[in-house]
Amino acid sequence: MFCSRPAFWLFMKSTIMKFGGTSVEGATAFQNAARIVPERQALHPVVIVSAMAGFTDALLNSVREALNGDASKAASTLDKHFDRHLRVIDALLDNEAAWMRNLIDQSRVEIAELLKTMAVDSGPGQSQRKCFADAVASFGERLSAAMLAAVLVENKLSSSAVDSRLCIITDEEFGCAAPLIDETFNRTTAHLQPLLESRCIPVLGGFIGSTLSGETTTLGRGGSDYTAAIIGAALAAEEIQIWTDVPGVLTADPRVAPKARTVPKLSFEEAAELAYFGAKVLHPKTLQPAVERNIPVRICNSRAQESGSTLVVAETEKSPQTVKAIAHKTAVTTVQVTSARMLGAYGFLRALFEVFDKHRTAVDVVTTSEVSVSLSLDDTSALPAIVAELEKLGSVNIEEKRAILCIVGEGLRSTPGIAARIFSTISDINVSLISQGASRINLTFAVEEARAREAVTRLHREFFETASQDEEAVKGLIAGIETVVHGV
Ligand code: ADP
Ligand code: ASP
Ligand code: MG
Repeated sequence: MFCSRPAFWLFMKSTIMKFGGTSVEGATAFQNAARIVPERQALHPVVIVSAMAGFTDALLNSVREALNGDASKAASTLDKHFDRHLRVIDALLDNEAAWMRNLIDQSRVEIAELLKTMAVDSGPGQSQRKCFADAVASFGERLSAAMLAAVLVENKLSSSAVDSRLCIITDEEFGCAAPLIDETFNRTTAHLQPLLESRCIPVLGGFIGSTLSGETTTLGRGGSDYTAAIIGAALAAEEIQIWTDVPGVLTADPRVAPKARTVPKLSFEEAAELAYFGAKVLHPKTLQPAVERNIPVRICNSRAQESGSTLVVAETEKSPQTVKAIAHKTAVTTVQVTSARMLGAYGFLRALFEVFDKHRTAVDVVTTSEVSVSLSLDDTSALPAIVAELEKLGSVNIEEKRAILCIVGEGLRSTPGIAARIFSTISDINVSLISQGASRINLTFAVEEARAREAVTRLHREFFETASQDEEAVKGLIAGIETVVHGV
């Protein structure tokens, strides 16, 4: 697949640079991205871009409005977002302005048509709605990609917007589609290789793809990171860079722990656990393509490059305090199934998981005892049907409004005293569903959602905010800055 022009691929590996919504939220951010990219032109950049911050929410909201029956009201909710795009055009484009304005007008008309179809009485059925929603949502990334390419061209660079729906080919799971890897890799190389060879910077919208029959799909919310990783794997890139609004992966969610600081280096496994358990800075699926091709992932701050970054690679050393970061996610439901039939029986767990399989519901954390199984779920849309079937296996207890906390660090399991330190720090907070078995690098447990922030704050203070840890932080920061200076 990569052999058609071997010389090029041997000597000129590309670097994927993905800019998230806040990194293209307005004219200043677009200009900033358009400065960061050419600084790395020697790395043969392929740029992936998200919708302007807040635009995907607005597009999906307009779909909901339309389903209530008033298409023109639904369309008018988007006016202020098109105005934001127009302000970027006014501020940054000259020669490229006219066709970009036309593209915005055309997009307005196409979206209005889609919303009208959704609003009519005999409008689409449940499955078609998702298909329409993806078509509407796709405009966010499509417009961003066109605008960023236009800004680069306006800045005298050779750049071209590429419709990512020509590259990312997916199944038909609208709203959360999965890429068809061989097809995607073939088409990505076919579309991007000629551009890279002619030193043209391709700019693609993240998050979106299309089915084999050409219908627009999306990869799930926050999916632009995943697009960057898929494209990176297809091109066997040198590095996948995620440019965002924070200086890398931090020791905790900075909205909960304001003193959170950059973790300079993480292993793929550590980063995947953090992403999966709530560190929004990386979409949970991002690491999978990077791991398969062993491509380093770097998370950088588009607002302040020198403020630090995180490099994610196959293996890292243990950190001095073992714990590297704390992730948490809320709105989790736990399910406990208790049955004496479990004792010494086989086939029970298979029957139990078949229920979740049948209802296409992913299970996050699982713990078992002699007579019970506890598990946690994010998606509760099929819960009533699941419970009805689980009740045939045993008694079922549901706890809503839970949060999962995940403490991550290489060597966690083999370091004595860590668990004791964690649980004594939050000894007055009721903890359930503790899991340490499956992975050497994490300790995961559930608490009541109302106490999650407090638990994270306290654990962050305990593991990252004492005087000696501050010294470690300074060392880490210096290491982080060195990686940015030498690495990016
Ligand atoms: P983008 O729009 O660039 O994709 P996101 O909003 O998806 O950015 O992700 C960045 C946000 O992730 C940060 O602003 C921060 O609030 C949140 N976040 C949660 N946990 C972490 C963490 N451990 N480290 C860094 N950021 C985190
Ligand atoms: N724009 C999409 C979203 O808001 C994808 C992304 O930003 O990664 O979910
Ligand atoms: Mg994101």
